Amino acid sequence: MKRTAPALDALLARLDAAELRRARTTVESYPAAQRRTLTVAGGRELVDFSSNDYLGLARHPALAAAMSACAARCGAGSGASHLITGHGAEHARLEEELAAFTGRARALLFSTGYMANLAVMAALAGDGERVLLDRLCHASLIDGARLSGARLRRYRHADADSAARLLAADPAHAALVATDGVFSMDGDLAPLPALAQAARAADAWLVVDDAHGLGVVGPSGGGVLEHFALDGEAVPVLVGTLGKAFGSFGAFVAGAADLIELLMQKARTYIYTTALPQPVAAATRAALVLARTERWRRERLHALTARFRAAALAAGVPIGASVTPIQPVLLGRPARALAAQRELAAAGFWVVAIRPPSVPPGSARLRVTLSAAHTEGEVDALVEHLARACRRSL
Ligand code: PMP
Repeated sequence: MKRTAPALDALLARLDAAELRRARTTVESYPAAQRRTLTVAGGRELVDFSSNDYLGLARHPALAAAMSACAARCGAGSGASHLITGHGAEHARLEEELAAFTGRARALLFSTGYMANLAVMAALAGDGERVLLDRLCHASLIDGARLSGARLRRYRHADADSAARLLAADPAHAALVATDGVFSMDGDLAPLPALAQAARAADAWLVVDDAHGLGVVGPSGGGVLEHFALDGEAVPVLVGTLGKAFGSFGAFVAGAADLIELLMQKARTYIYTTALPQPVAAATRAALVLARTERWRRERLHALTARFRAAALAAGVPIGASVTPIQPVLLGRPARALAAQRELAAAGFWVVAIRPPSVPPGSARLRVTLSAAHTEGEVDALVEHLARACRRSL
């Protein structure tokens, strides 16, 4: 690619022509602390149905209080990487609590889920080996697989037989299978019991990125592993993120002690980066307590999800098969999804169009996400306007 302005202009114009140029919207304020409302330019208030704040913890006063108390004690920045002087007591406690929460021997904090996935893939797979990924898995798993130097193969979405066939086709090369637990753009669950069986039969690693399941799925928020009653034998590597249901920021890998020790020694996205600020870890610790003890948040979230699904199906809104709070409304062309987004925004709802390459070509959608912080009235009103917007954008 040439560095000249016309070359860049041409690339941007191509995005425009395909309706794939992305733009940000600046949130000016949050008018009601514990509701999922926000204001944008001009002071317009919108109900946010696009965040991953599933339990309604992101603006909970207990998280803000933990964060500011820790900042007063420790300051804003950690000053160095974990292996130099950046590893503090809040990090250490949080890692212990995350290990306990996931029922694993140890957990290792990362600054983001993206970095955690790069770390795991690059540490556990390499040249001459194979990585098998679900066709709809998260971008960070794909990038991690590329970084690892292993040969990347994709199996059919949520199809453990397809993964097993790929595993069996080349038993001479060691393999790692990785999947989202709850798929980020579709909301469906990976077929983990069958995948675990296939991976175990082939002596392959199984990595589950449960970014959207932890805190949400399973009676105590233990995620897809709790839902399917799978332990560390079945799924040896568990990745979780902290910026979604836990309302904070960061991520972790949980597993056996030697796995975590190896990541600490080898993972470049752990070693060569500044440690997450301790106040962020303090906020996450407060969130973990709330996620564990306030079961009503999960119950409310599931009740609102069921309410949304029933109303959307009755109104003919083209939703997917997901029973999690991620509810895709499948619209097809990017222009159609954008038109629906605009119409909903005009009606007071913030629901963002998701377009390729975040989703496969021809499957642009509105990704509706429910939160325990929504009200029944907001959900009902959303469905009403969604039905209208879908009809009009045809
Ligand atoms: N995995 C999945 C399945 C995700 O949806 C995301 C976030 N979009 C990530 C990993 C990355 O997590 P983070 O935002 O902490 O980098």
